[in-house]
Parts: sequence; C-alpha cells; structure tokens
Amino acid sequence: MTTTPFGLSTVLGYPRIGPDRELKRALESYWAGRIDATALHRIGAELRAAVWRDLRHIGVDAIPSNTFSYYDHMLDAAVAVDAVPDRFRRLGLDELDTYFAMARGTAGEPALELTKWFGTNYHYLVPEIGPDTVFVARPGKPVAEFAESRALGMTTRPVLVGPATFLLLAKAASGAPEGFRPFDRLDDLVTVYAELLAELADAGVAWVQLDEPAFTTDRTGAEIDALRGAYARLGAVRQRPRLFVASYFGELGDALPALLATPVEAVGIDLVAGPGDVNRLAGCGPIPGRTIVAGIVDGHNIWRTDLRAAAARAAVLTGVADDVVVSTSCSLLHVPVDLDAEPDLDPDLRARLAFARQKAGEVAQLGRALRDGVAVLPEPPGAAPAAWRDERVRSRLAELPVRRREAYPQRARAQQDRLGLPPLPTTTIGSFPQTDQLRRARAELRAGTLDADGYAERMRTEIADVVALQERLGLDVLVHGEPERNDMVQYFGEQLAGFAATASGWVQSYGSRCVRPPIIYGDVSRPAPMTVGWAGYAQSLTTRPVKGMLTGPVTILAWSFVRTDQPLADTANQVALALRDETVDLEAAGIQIIQVDEPALRELLPLRRAGQRAYLDWAVTAFRIATGGVADGTQIHTHLCYSEFGEVLPAIDALDADVTSIEASRSKMEILADLRAAGYGRGVGPGVYDIHSPRVPAQHEITEALRLAVAAVPADRLWVNPDCGLKTRGYPEVERALAGLVAAAAEVRAEL
Ligand code: GLN
Ligand code: ZN
Repeated sequence: MTTTPFGLSTVLGYPRIGPDRELKRALESYWAGRIDATALHRIGAELRAAVWRDLRHIGVDAIPSNTFSYYDHMLDAAVAVDAVPDRFRRLGLDELDTYFAMARGTAGEPALELTKWFGTNYHYLVPEIGPDTVFVARPGKPVAEFAESRALGMTTRPVLVGPATFLLLAKAASGAPEGFRPFDRLDDLVTVYAELLAELADAGVAWVQLDEPAFTTDRTGAEIDALRGAYARLGAVRQRPRLFVASYFGELGDALPALLATPVEAVGIDLVAGPGDVNRLAGCGPIPGRTIVAGIVDGHNIWRTDLRAAAARAAVLTGVADDVVVSTSCSLLHVPVDLDAEPDLDPDLRARLAFARQKAGEVAQLGRALRDGVAVLPEPPGAAPAAWRDERVRSRLAELPVRRREAYPQRARAQQDRLGLPPLPTTTIGSFPQTDQLRRARAELRAGTLDADGYAERMRTEIADVVALQERLGLDVLVHGEPERNDMVQYFGEQLAGFAATASGWVQSYGSRCVRPPIIYGDVSRPAPMTVGWAGYAQSLTTRPVKGMLTGPVTILAWSFVRTDQPLADTANQVALALRDETVDLEAAGIQIIQVDEPALRELLPLRRAGQRAYLDWAVTAFRIATGGVADGTQIHTHLCYSEFGEVLPAIDALDADVTSIEASRSKMEILADLRAAGYGRGVGPGVYDIHSPRVPAQHEITEALRLAVAAVPADRLWVNPDCGLKTRGYPEVERALAGLVAAAAEVRAEL
C-alpha cells in the first residue's frame, strides 16, 4: 500500500467546546458584554491550537481545521458563501455580531431556524436561500484557521460543508416563488465553491474536506446526478487543493459510484452506520489513484473500538483502493472530549469507553496497524461483567402482556366516569418555569451546603406554589411542575440501574448549549420509585387530578449513549419495563392521569426509508410496554414536541395513548387534519400557546385557534394546552398566557 500526503489516519472533526466547556463560558461572557471580541477570538484561537496540538501528540496523521465554530458549521458555511439574509445585513452590525444575530436573533429579528443535524442531538442553523441570494466567496475563516495551524507547524485540512448538502439542508427564503428549492441554485453555488477552492490553494492548502452527509439519506436520481455534476466541475478547477468528499451517518449507495466518476481524489465512507458501502465499492472495480477514507471508529457513540475487528474491516478495502486512510465514522463533535476527566466511573465501564481523545488515539493505532500489521493492536476488553446482566428483567420481558385490556372507546368512557372533566379540559405539558431559586437549590445540593432533606423540602415548597397557582388560574388537570429535573433524561438516568452518569461528559447541542447524556451500559431496571413522591405530594394538595410526568423509552434512548451489544429495541423494552413499574406505582399512589413524553420519537427514525418500518414497530412496542400496565380507568397521555411528523405520523395512533399533545400554534392547527387523515381518533391537545417565544398570546388568538380545533376534532376529544413545557419561560408571562388559555377555553366551551 502506498501512502499519500494524507497519511494513514485522520478524524473527520473534533469537539469545539473545549475540555471544560471553555467556549460556552467565553460565548456567554461575550453575549453578556463581560468580554470583548478580542478576548473571545483569543479564547477561540487557544481552543483551536489545543485541539491541533493534541491530535498531533496523539499521532493522528492528517489533522482537520475549520472544524471549530463560534456557533455552528452550517452557519459558517453560509457565511463562507455570503448567504447572509438581508434582514440581518440591515441590522448594520459588524461581522461577528451579524453572525450571532443570525444564530440567536435580536430583539426585533428572529434567528435562523434551528434544526437537528441528521440523526444526532446536534442542531444546526438552517440557511435561507432564495432565487436572488447572491453567493460570494468569503474564504476568510478557513484561510485564517489554516494559517494559524501552519504557524504552529501543522498543515491542516480545512473542512467545509459540501455545496450539495448545504443546499439540501437549506430552506427557501420567505418570498421565494412556489416550488423554488434551494437545491435549484447548485450551479451558482458550485461556481463560488470553485473560487473558495482556488483561494484555499493560494493559501497553501493541499487537501480540502467537503462533507456531503445528505447523500446518506434517500436522494433522487436527479439529485445524485447533480452531485456528480458538481464534483465534476469542482474537480476541473485548475488550481485547487485535492478534494476529499466525506460522507457519514449511513451508506452513500448510488452516490458512491457517482462520486467515483468525478476527479475527486478521496471519498470517505462510514463503515459503522453504512457498512454496505464496502461491497458497493468492491463492485465499482479497481479505483486507481483514489484514496478511500474508511470511517471505522464510531464517532457517534462512546464505546471503545474492537481494534482487531476494525482493522480486518479496513483491510478488505486495501484490496480495492490504492490508498486507505483510517478515520472516525463522523465528526467527533458528537462525543465528550476526554475520558481521562472521568476518574470516578466504574473501572469495568471505563475500560470499555472511548471519548474524542481516546478515539483519535484509536484511529492513529489503526492507521499504524494497516502499515505494520494487526499484531500491534491490543485485545478488545472481554465479555461484559456478569453483574451488568439482569435475568429477572429479561424473563419479565419475555412474558409481558403489552396491551391494555380494553380498546380506546371503552377506556375513554371509564376515564371520563372517573375524572368527570368538562369538555375542552385545560392542562399544561409538565414543566413550570425553572427559577433562579431552583437552580440555586441544585447548586447547593451539589456543593454539599444543602442536604437531601433540605433539597426535598425546597422542591415541595415549589410544588405547593405551582399547584396553588394552577388552582388559582382554574386549570382542570394540574401538574407538579417538574422542579426536581433540569433535564428530562438525565433525571431518570440517575435513578435507573444499568445507567451511568459522567462528571463532565458534555456534548454540544447547539451554540453554547451542551448536554451530558447518560450512558446505558447494562440491563435496565428501576430500583425504587422515581417520581411518585413528587406527584403524590402534588396530588395531596388538591382535589383536581394531577398528571404524572415521565419521559418515554425512545426519548431516553435518543438522548443517551446506548449499548451496542444488543439491538436498540431490546434496550428500549428494558427502559420501558422500568417506566411501566413507575406508572403502576403512580397509579397506586392515586395518580389518575400519566403523561409519557416522547419528543424524540422522530429523532431515532432511520435516515433511509428502508429501515423506518422496523424502527416504528419497536418504538411503538416500547411505548406500549411502558404504558400498558395501568388500569383502563387510568388515562395515558403522550406529548410529541413538534408538528411535522412525516413518516412517524401513522405510528401516533399505534402508540395507543388516550390523549396526545403536540405543537400546533405556529402551524394554525394543520396537524389536526393530518392526524385525522392518518387514522388518529383519540384525545388530542393541539398547542394553543407558542412557548418558544416570550410573547404572551392575546386571549382572542387562543379562542380563534380553539375554534379551528373544534371545527377539526369532536369537542369531546379535544384538550386545551400550550405547545410544550414552560421551563424556559418566566412566571409573569406564563401566568398571563395561562389565564388567557383558561378564559379562551371557557369562551369556546360556552359555544359548544
Ligand atoms: N414534560 C416536559 C416539559 O414540560 C416535556 C418537554 C418536551 O417535550 N421536550 O418540560
Ligand atoms: Zn414539547
């Protein structure tokens, strides 16, 4: 095997937040006016330099740059082609503040939309592209970061979002004509990418990485042709760096031969999420002069790689391509920075984990093994400790009757007899505002200045206040307000067996926001009730029904790092069984309504249609296991956070919940027609108050929304609630909005 300047190993990207979330603190200080732009840039440069030095020290051959971002790499790509919507230019801010205005909005101007980066928990900003968007090459950031790395003695490989993926992930600017797609502008954008490439070559760049993950999802033949055309043109640029087109999160499929038909020098495939591309590649025949970048170290999960097995997989490729480089399957952005920051993890678990730094080390080891042979590779850790297995959980699952006894109509009657709710009952989605007081209590508990009893006392005080407020407002179904949880998955992860929490395993969610996902490593069970104390206490304070509040199995999986030694479905069922135990205990404690939130139901949906049916089957099964243990008279609610369900829509009815609440206020109740068309005929709570904004809706707006809802759904199945939980809002606005909601419900009730 020959080696090219690419070397033997690389990573597709790296966490930007710093080992101790330095970027988060710097950004928040800058936004608060505590540091200036110079100081922010200095911290940025330090973080970048530290990553490059680290990767060199670890022994990674080809080091990427421009993977750092002050907010988001899609936003950086938009800036690199000058796709800054006029509404932000008009603000007259400097470059940095225009950038942050696009990311975060200003008092008068909403930010770009934030949405999920494929199947991950990272969110990118959605570029707005219209027929008149003028693309201009602005290579400043990648060139400057390349120069920075050069000054440190490293020739890095700038990474940019590829032009095709950029447009496929963009949305049409408002005012674009009907039927316009940003992708229609690919030719224009490629012209500007060609200029970017020329400028990078001028700056001394030898290799550029262009990310095209959009081609691991279902694409039309026309889109794949357009991809081929785009890279044929970029390949023909006279003076340019060598091109490495990276893909990740699945198989390239037909896009693989399309890329190989162009002059690009290197193609990256994801052997973890898309192993089928290996065979496809072999089927393409010999590909002389090409480099294949083999993503064999999982960049999306935290398990140590079985290096010997991975080397064997990469070795298959060496028979096909002249040159094989070992890489991560995707950017390491999606895993925490450093396992060395976790000395307190159980040693058996630690021995099986690898975070970004450790994964970079694996890639370097594998690269060397391709040259020197696999004998240098360590053995994988042995079988998981027996203590991680729980035979009781396994046998209970094997015998479990999933279903509830009666069908929905009978259940609905039993529930109504018991609950006696008025038509259009009013409720909320669960959380009430998280106040400074609550944050302080949590901080004091962590610091040890408040003991567990003192903490519980503060929570009870908060619950009593929230219950009193809801009674005063006249809501029909109350909640305890979720003061005890700052995160709807972490809270359960801390209490379930089979889960581990990290001390500083932070992962960027968007901008300065980071999450600390728990790790599911063993069989899951519930040693003790998790929410019964809080819900029961709330119920003891009122004669109105208090709705219990749990996070569903799919969402718990989606926001955790999950074991890979058994199918996701098996782990989901175990989590579901633990939740089922909780529902049964809630019921026994006098809770008559239980909501099981599944805001991430759509998130785990496989990117390609082929796997979606099987996913929805197991997701639905898990939800039914979680909710099927209660009596017919106990009402099960679910909450789904958004209103665009796509392929997930038919599964909503299959969940067999009695009531589903969803976001609807921004889409003017359109979801109700979609639900009906998908065969959904149970209770529904379309959101009538957009909680994503501090704006308090006028009562008549809520009334109008409700009238639309009443026209679409029989009133006896309709609930009245906000779009989502209230935890990010402030009390003054929440009180006014909920008062309006209750009054609007009364108004429309009177019209029935
Ligand atoms: N019950 C949760 C809350 O109200 C639901 C949050 C969510 O849907 N993301 O906060
Ligand atoms: Zn929600």
